[in-house]
Amino acid sequence: MINLILFGPPGSGKGTQAVGLAEKYGLVHISTGDLFRSEMGADTELGKQAKAYISKGELVPDEVTVGMLKNKVEAHPEANGFIFDGFPRTIPQAEALDTLLTGKGTSISGLIALDVSEQEIVNRILNRGKTSGRLDDNDEGIIRNRIAVYEQETAPVFDHYAQSGKSWKIDGMGSIDEIFARLCARIDTFQ
Ligand code: ADP
Repeated sequence: MINLILFGPPGSGKGTQAVGLAEKYGLVHISTGDLFRSEMGADTELGKQAKAYISKGELVPDEVTVGMLKNKVEAHPEANGFIFDGFPRTIPQAEALDTLLTGKGTSISGLIALDVSEQEIVNRILNRGKTSGRLDDNDEGIIRNRIAVYEQETAPVFDHYAQSGKSWKIDGMGSIDEIFARLCARIDTFQ
């Protein structure tokens, strides 16, 4: 069983790479950002709650996010493993994930961070904003806020898994295929 955390700042290419990796390794891909967008699209209570934070480039509170993530994991008892994309984004989320997986007799196999420069990230997100229709992709101030939140709240998650030798960094610059090959080379070393 492989349980991978695909890590990195907003716009670093996690979503793009997760789709290909899920297919290659037969894993269930869970993107908390996609789950929130689907709730917002359906105008559910959860969606309304999330929108207030997402539109400002802030994180949705942990209890909301963790509850949603748990439901999604529980919905796949047959899974060979998971790719967590955009989760965990805080230390309490990482602790909740570790507890959830321990309860299932498994654990995180590894965390791989995509290393991309801040200017490249801003350019990629602004470019995506032209077609994504995402309310958090069109304003440079909101994008810079998301990057600041990443540095303050999310980056410590890398160190959390580094303590057990499970955090890896790969170069996130280059073509989609080149980055995919780098990810696979690392995943193939996981037990
Ligand atoms: P990106 O990685 O490009 O920022 P995502 O689609 O992963 O985009 O997330 C979009 C937004 O959804 C985030 O900026 C945040 O507001 C919210 N979000 C997603 N995942 C989480 C999470 N694990 N915890 C809190 N908020 C989250």
